[in-house]
Amino acid sequence: MDADVIIVGAGPIGLMLACELGRAGVRPLVLERQREIRDIPKAGGLSGQILELLRYRGELERFEAAGTGTGPTPAPQLPWGGMHLDFTELADPPMQVMLLPQPRLERVLDEFARELGAEIRRGHEVVGLSQDDDTVTADVRGPDGQDRVTARYLVGCDGASGQVRDMAGIAFPGITYPEVQRLAQVTVPEGVTVFDNGDIDVVGVGRISFGFTRTEHGEFAVGSTDPAFLGLYTSEEESTDYDDEEPMTLTELRDSIRRVLGVDLPLGEPTRLTRFTFHARHVERYRHGRILLAGDAAHLFPAPGVALGVGLLDTVNLGWKLAADIQGWAPVGLLDTYHDERHLAAARTLLHTQAQVALRRGYDPAAVALRELFQELVADEQPLRRIGALMAGSDICYPLPGHDRHPLIGAFAPDLAVHRDGGTTNVAELLHTARPVFVDLADRADLCDAAREWRHRIDIHSATTVDRPADALLIRPDAHIAWVGTIDEPTDTAVLTLRRALADWFGAPA
Ligand SMILES: Cc1cc2nc3c(=O)[nH]c(=O)nc-3n(C[C@H](O)[C@H](O)[C@H](O)COP(=O)(O)OP(=O)(O)OC[C@H]3O[C@@H](n4cnc5c(N)ncnc54)[C@H](O)[C@@H]3O)c2cc1C
Repeated sequence: MDADVIIVGAGPIGLMLACELGRAGVRPLVLERQREIRDIPKAGGLSGQILELLRYRGELERFEAAGTGTGPTPAPQLPWGGMHLDFTELADPPMQVMLLPQPRLERVLDEFARELGAEIRRGHEVVGLSQDDDTVTADVRGPDGQDRVTARYLVGCDGASGQVRDMAGIAFPGITYPEVQRLAQVTVPEGVTVFDNGDIDVVGVGRISFGFTRTEHGEFAVGSTDPAFLGLYTSEEESTDYDDEEPMTLTELRDSIRRVLGVDLPLGEPTRLTRFTFHARHVERYRHGRILLAGDAAHLFPAPGVALGVGLLDTVNLGWKLAADIQGWAPVGLLDTYHDERHLAAARTLLHTQAQVALRRGYDPAAVALRELFQELVADEQPLRRIGALMAGSDICYPLPGHDRHPLIGAFAPDLAVHRDGGTTNVAELLHTARPVFVDLADRADLCDAAREWRHRIDIHSATTVDRPADALLIRPDAHIAWVGTIDEPTDTAVLTLRRALADWFGAPA
């Protein structure tokens, strides 16, 4: 056996999985067909729940330092379904963002994964796969010719066109939308004035409103987060395919703006030019025997800004479960919960990203009315918060056993301030070890005694907190709550359900 786990693809998802496995004590082999990290502009940064997870892990500073040096900030306005969601009125906006261009993200993950013991072989393409009851075998084309490597598991993190998925025979049903989206950032050219509200005035054309303009030929948007630059976007239905390998040009953007908006817009120097199509696709199974999938290989969403976060959270869910299996202590069925939980999370993301397609596409009066109505609805706090939580992925609550008993079971652990040993800390800090954590918040000796039987697997803390949500919490390494102890339960029942949860998630007692 060459490795416990082979990861196919050293994009952000494959590299993050390598880090997660490394933190759980497994050293994977990562195979990447490209010889080096490419400077292709893709995601501009991280957003949503993955930022909270990185903070809980104590890893956020590493990512901050690789970006602009500043941490997550509340997103003021975000495009959504052909309109803008305005979070500026909320005291605690549900969506946080952190600038970190994808090539830099990949570099920091590459370095971290190597520090944690991963072996990353670049210039190695997986071209064939087979599996039996005990092993997976990958045929690899590398700089020195063809090779064959074996492992106990193989995870396809090989992106949208994922060959692993195809070679494993896993279907990827869904839709590819016919619109081509073009996205650019250019310097503000002569003849264009940017107003404080984001509108622009173009000499010879007139005023163009900030945000989205829908015409019968497609969609145009303009915005600016930096007064020196203009962000431009078009979306139009095209019958001919573009060549993915051909970089987009300024002329191509100018032509597209003319077709959509019917005007010639002067354009400054480009600092970013990309084009892409949207897909809504989701694999039926995240696992096929010893082969698993994560990231774009498993799901594609037809709206911007969410794919990376969902993929990274796949790896946070998968890493510790796969490590448990390899280390021989995984309870029966643990690895299959990866599919159950992350399929549900991607389905939630598909729900709001596909709804956005319906909202932004139409030009007829009914479609215009639908957008106007939605714009009114999202001016209210409650729907705005709800959609913000959907975008961030912070509303994901896995339907774990006992969820009907307490709403916190399955949810992301709240970052309570807790007092212990004469000092104050918080739940996030207790989770820095990336191990399961049992927190006793009510001096419950009965529960602590039961938890101590699993002390070889879990960290145990006794603390107090103001407004405690429960007597005790059992939190998994991915920060989701596996069990909750409440004061209303008879002691025997609480101890019984805790012991069952510990055994279900973390195997046999010591
Ligand atoms: C223009 C653009 C803008 C985007 N903007 C955003 C954004 O703002 N926010 C956001 O969240 N997401 C954004 N995305 C999506 C985001 O980039 C993807 O979700 C992310 O790259 C997925 O990571 P991944 O590791 O799953 O796949 P990829 O990044 O595609 O990585 C897959 C890796 O696998 C390698 N590989 C493939 N096949 C093999 C093989 N057979 N053997 C070995 N290696 C192989 C590839 O070379 C590649 O390095 C954007 C994407 C694009 C194209």
